[in-house]
Amino acid sequence: MSDIDIRVTGRAGRITFTRPKALNAMSYDMCMAIDTALRNWREDDAVDLIVIDAEGDKAFCAGGDIAELYDTGTRGDFSYGRTFWRDEYRTNAMIFEYPKPVISFMQGFTMGGGVGIGCHGSHRVVGETSQIAMPEVGIGLVPDVGGTLMLALAPGRLGEYLGMTAGRMGPDDAILAGFADHFIPQDKWGDVIEMLEASGDASHVESHAIPAPEGKLRSQQAEIDRFFAGESLGDILNAIKTEDTEFTAAALKALNRNSPLSMACTVEMLHRLRGPSLSIRRALDMEYRFTYRAMEKGDFLEGIRAQIIDKDRNPNWQFADLNVPAAAVSQMLMPLGANALTFEEEKRAMKIGFIGLGNMGAPMAANLAKAGHDVTGFDMADVSVEGVTMAASGAEAATGADVVITMLPNGQILRAVAGEIIPAMARGAAFIDCSTVDVHSARAAAAQCAEAGLLFVDAPVSGGIGGAAAGTLTFMAGGSTDAFAKAEPLFDIMGQKAVHCGDAGAGQAAKICNNMILGVTMIATCEAFALADKLGLDRQKMFDVVSTSSGYSWTMNAYCPAPGVGPQSPADNDYKPGFAAELMLKDLGLSQQAAESADADTPMGELAQKLYKQFVEDEDGLGMDFSAMLPRFEKRGRD
Ligand code: NAD
Repeated sequence: MSDIDIRVTGRAGRITFTRPKALNAMSYDMCMAIDTALRNWREDDAVDLIVIDAEGDKAFCAGGDIAELYDTGTRGDFSYGRTFWRDEYRTNAMIFEYPKPVISFMQGFTMGGGVGIGCHGSHRVVGETSQIAMPEVGIGLVPDVGGTLMLALAPGRLGEYLGMTAGRMGPDDAILAGFADHFIPQDKWGDVIEMLEASGDASHVESHAIPAPEGKLRSQQAEIDRFFAGESLGDILNAIKTEDTEFTAAALKALNRNSPLSMACTVEMLHRLRGPSLSIRRALDMEYRFTYRAMEKGDFLEGIRAQIIDKDRNPNWQFADLNVPAAAVSQMLMPLGANALTFEEEKRAMKIGFIGLGNMGAPMAANLAKAGHDVTGFDMADVSVEGVTMAASGAEAATGADVVITMLPNGQILRAVAGEIIPAMARGAAFIDCSTVDVHSARAAAAQCAEAGLLFVDAPVSGGIGGAAAGTLTFMAGGSTDAFAKAEPLFDIMGQKAVHCGDAGAGQAAKICNNMILGVTMIATCEAFALADKLGLDRQKMFDVVSTSSGYSWTMNAYCPAPGVGPQSPADNDYKPGFAAELMLKDLGLSQQAAESADADTPMGELAQKLYKQFVEDEDGLGMDFSAMLPRFEKRGRD
């Protein structure tokens, strides 16, 4: 192929981009040629290491060749792009996991697809002209080709900054951000490559490296950390807009250029990825969720049109006011089920026992079966669930299972079920309890599992019945790293996000703390609306102000208790639950029980519990959504 030169020279497998006039932009065929060569050399004893370089002064590789993607996408054919990205990402993972040294020499521009080839090897060399960037948000994509791995690992909030502004990194900046390892002056590269070819010894790279001239990011780190720490695009914009400095002005200018949806998803991806279970495969899996949907639902085709085809640089982005709803982000990053990115070895179907097939458990079990797992279920009630084989007892469902999942009403029932099924489970299997229960019951089940040689994860959920059906739950997990790793592929099917919170019990602790905040803020939001009514303030105006001011919260912005205001919520459906007031009362009870045993002072939680108790037990709250506190307050006066 004329665009790439693949050969063996001495002890080195050699890959050279030879398309300098097109800044060495990488086509699908070039990527597949690299993939094949790397596979062959992996087993070839004559090849000790791989050297990747490029012809021309301007670029190592300025990105993927997107013309073909645009042509097919605008014709409504999304499969070409999906295949391109899937196969490219597999190559990226192979480079990262390669068993021999992979040494890249990256002059000039290394961007997007070029990062996927040049920045995952063991020895990543930069020189005086190196300019590395992940500029995808400018064309309606997100940082991909495994770039989110480096961005998530970069110090402080550098990852958010680079991913959202598409900022270019000079050699020292790239080393700081984890995209490169060594600076070698470019006039030495030819000699070093010859030594590598002759010896097959990668240590020539280290021995020729010198410190890079200082870049610009080190001195900006404090500002980057201060302004890019927010939870979402909105938070980050709010922070940037509070101060008018040279840095904030430049950052704002960059953010105003890029796709709001892409930037919001970038922030969310980095937050989800950061943590102990981060790996190249996890990063690529998350990226593929976005790119799979990028043409159909994202801004990608519009971004290419504006930047590359018409070159008017005036893209008509979705959410152009930079106000991207959390639901739009979730939609782009939801797991792909059967279409998820897989690597060499295809995912094996697991044998799963599922106990407790009520409102939540039934749709969760159905989603696991739909994804190809072999699910056997049990419930005290006579239920049937699509795709799930029913057993006659919990112990029968647990026998021979790789994983048993429980979704039960409370801690007492969990303890009883655990006592029955743990003796039936095979050593090494995992017990995942997704019910919301007290921390003590979770830890008691964990201790019993440890004694029986089983893995245990407490993984309560948020997202409600709708989230269980749509596979968009959030899991808060407690347990060992091994236990979490075993459960994670199942969380990906049943939910859109799983946070490993710590050891056994930490998931329940996170859940009850979260729901204590939820109960308290719902009451605060409802009482504020009732006060606003009495002050003659229009509810819509109240929403417009609070949802973008310091009083904003999930209860106001995403689950507004006032009918006809904000996004659709149970308030618009006569307060039919959603999340029932009695379930909120249960969770507030758990938080007070935990606060009692930990000697924590939680006056707001205590008051919230009292109000919900009164609402559910003495008033008309039973069977109503927990946001029905608003009509309750409406009817009341001060005493
Ligand atoms: P549910 O009452 O609809 O389901 C519980 C199921 O467990 C029932 O079908 C019941 O028959 C079964 N069960 C009870 N004892 C059993 C036993 N010994 N063996 C086998 N099955 C048994 O409740 P749900 O709404 O599905 O909630 C389940 C859990 O999820 C609860 O801990 C709840 O707090 C939590 N949760 C619920 C929501 C929600 O919106 N419903 C949201 C988040 C978390």
